[in-house]
Amino acid sequence: MIEFQELSWLRPVWNKVSSRWKSLPHGILISGNSGIGKGQLALELVRLLLCTEPNKHQACGQCASCQLLENSVHPDLHVLVPEAKIDSQPEPIRRHASRYFMSEKGASSTRKPSRVISVDSVRWLSDALATKSGQAGPKVSLIMPADRLNSNSMNALLKLLEEPTADTYLILVSARPYRLAATIRSRCIQLECPTPDPQVVRSWLGDRHPKISIDVSPFARCGFGPLQINGIVAAGHQNLFQGLIEKLRGPLLARDNPLLLAQECSAIDIPTALRILQHLALAQIRRYATEAGSLGAVGGQTTFSSRESCIQAFLEIGRFLIHTGGAVDEQLFLEDICTRICMKRKS
Ligand SMILES: [Zn+2]
Repeated sequence: MIEFQELSWLRPVWNKVSSRWKSLPHGILISGNSGIGKGQLALELVRLLLCTEPNKHQACGQCASCQLLENSVHPDLHVLVPEAKIDSQPEPIRRHASRYFMSEKGASSTRKPSRVISVDSVRWLSDALATKSGQAGPKVSLIMPADRLNSNSMNALLKLLEEPTADTYLILVSARPYRLAATIRSRCIQLECPTPDPQVVRSWLGDRHPKISIDVSPFARCGFGPLQINGIVAAGHQNLFQGLIEKLRGPLLARDNPLLLAQECSAIDIPTALRILQHLALAQIRRYATEAGSLGAVGGQTTFSSRESCIQAFLEIGRFLIHTGGAVDEQLFLEDICTRICMKRKS
């Protein structure tokens, strides 16, 4: 697991928040692009808030509270994470989060892991926060990604923010804070984490993978942060991703078969492929806004056939990713998008 101390670009935000940790408000929203370490920052803040003997704005790592946290059994840490995202979480988060899973509460184990944070989870959290603290210190709740709350769970969370229980912190983490209700955002202080410069990302990845040459640009173009690129490189998937990104951005291809293209997208995981397509659509929309002449055309490499098809794909993918797990099959949806891309190339 990547430790917070390894993420130098988050140091200024950490200094800002840790220096005033004793006077932090009840609601804290940590935002910033994907894959830059927001979860690590949040966990570091949890450690500091729960530690009984902090030293120079750092958790001591030794006290009973720190030990309980590292052993994933702290009674005053409450974590809400969608079940489908649990595998990507660090160990202390996983065990704490599993307490709030439907399957732990008696729901059928044969259903698909949920991609949203359910209203039941927020109600269980509310009940837990209403009870006495287990360690006589503060109670901390970590909700990530907070944009995976649906409208009912957002309403339930709003009540917790409006009527806070004593000595309680609610830490929300999100790369898409605009998806949260304005009433939730307004009740939190926002800590915006900066995206590191490309040369910082190159140097950081170079230190971690000294024997591998990594071209950061295609990943950065598709919104991948350093931690995500690191995961891809560590899994040996760098060429797979780069090949697909270049293909999607490239001109006419020999293989303009939408099913084949969808298959190549599926090979890297469908939601991730859809996010790449959404980023490419957004990049193309931006180019229409800045480059397009009177004919409304943009030069160079394009993925979609027109401004309208970009906007449509961008919006549809966004809606699909929010409501994923719904009635539309993700493979069929991906094939539909790939068909539009390949139609453009044949036209
Ligand atoms: Zn401690």
